[in-house]
Amino acid sequence: MARLGFLGAARTVTGSQYLLEAGGRRVMIDCGMFQGQKPLRLRNWADPCEDPAGIDALVLTHTHLDHIGRVPRLVKRGFRGPVYCTPPTVDLAEILLLDAAHLQEEDARYYNRKGLTKHKPALPLFDESDAREALKLFRAAPKGQRHELDDVFSFGYREAGHLLGAASADVRVRENGRETRVLFSGDVGRYDAILTKDPEGAGDADYLVIESTYGNRRHSDVSVLDQLEGALKRTFARGGVLLVPAFAVGRAQQMIWMMDELVTQGRMRPFPIHLDSPMAVDATRVYAAHPEAHKEALGNAAGRSLFHGKWVHLRRTRDESMALNSMGGPMVIISSSGMLAGGRILHHCRQRLPRPENMLLITGYQAVGTLGRALVDGKAEVRIHKSMVPVLAEVRSLKGLSGHADAEELVRWLGDVPKPRRVFVTHGEEESALALAARLERERGFATHVPEMGETVEL
Ligand SMILES: [Zn+2]
Repeated sequence: MARLGFLGAARTVTGSQYLLEAGGRRVMIDCGMFQGQKPLRLRNWADPCEDPAGIDALVLTHTHLDHIGRVPRLVKRGFRGPVYCTPPTVDLAEILLLDAAHLQEEDARYYNRKGLTKHKPALPLFDESDAREALKLFRAAPKGQRHELDDVFSFGYREAGHLLGAASADVRVRENGRETRVLFSGDVGRYDAILTKDPEGAGDADYLVIESTYGNRRHSDVSVLDQLEGALKRTFARGGVLLVPAFAVGRAQQMIWMMDELVTQGRMRPFPIHLDSPMAVDATRVYAAHPEAHKEALGNAAGRSLFHGKWVHLRRTRDESMALNSMGGPMVIISSSGMLAGGRILHHCRQRLPRPENMLLITGYQAVGTLGRALVDGKAEVRIHKSMVPVLAEVRSLKGLSGHADAEELVRWLGDVPKPRRVFVTHGEEESALALAARLERERGFATHVPEMGETVEL
């Protein structure tokens, strides 16, 4: 009998990790980091599972850290099996895991320097060499094929439409002459989204594990392009600079695509876009290298990728970044981090926020306590690098760019699949998960279950 363990993202939205056991074999699906409040983050320090060396293979759905962030730790604790993911995920994982390792190392150094730790010395969760060891185990497994793992397990990927390379994992378990299908949704993206393809429908499965990030919400349907056009035109009319804090992988590329689209549609004349983040520059190369994985053709009339277009300037070095300080509008600077928690965007804020002609355009969720949140809340003055900076620039938020399906879209994703034996609702705060489960029972007559962290069920 097969067993399914919920090791993370159970009644919470991060730390995705599942364990399937059957016929003496063990396969893990995702191995993500817990993010958010401290009690959750402390979970990252525990072993990702019992006996990591005894896991035969790991199947990843996509490259966000809450799905892959504990892979280096799993490897450090003895896991030696193959790590399967789609080809773009292999490339993006390298960027994200190395960046996460550097941030971990930086934090540990900071805590040690400031004496802010009970642990002597404070250690990173994983360092660069741990990340590199883990990356050696990654294997590309394209979508649309079945991949045989052993006599018991095989899997295939289906487009999830959430981020470049993101997939749902359709795992089959063969045991006692019987095949059981377990479909892990991964993170389901939006329909008609920017850059990403529409998610492939769920398809029939014996068991379904479905995410519920927005299980109790509905996204607004205002046009993102219209909002962006308004922001650009207003800023440029007063000769200002549009400053866009954006997550380096995914959001930064969506912003470039949308700006290119406004020009292509004749709604705006071309304007310079500076992508100022080494990580975003690397990620943009990966985006350009996988044209097949995007919804639209990303070439321009000259046959070049729009990411390497004439008006897009990739700024990798510190000098290239500093040179922007002396330049005036109209222009766009896209930089990270997305929540203004660090990175080059802080220098640009210090430079541009005190001037009323500029605009800061927020493109994603801003957690409580971040500089981004303070700015969205309309603070007239903010602290950056120990000095107070007056905020005279306009601050706006772009709505509707979420990478996650809302409740309606999750139901649409399920389509008219025949009733699975059971639907497990995960990867959402408790109330979102419970709301989606209740809706699927009410509207579809599905048998649902919202598992607890650490729970194991027999299939
Ligand atoms: Zn994700």
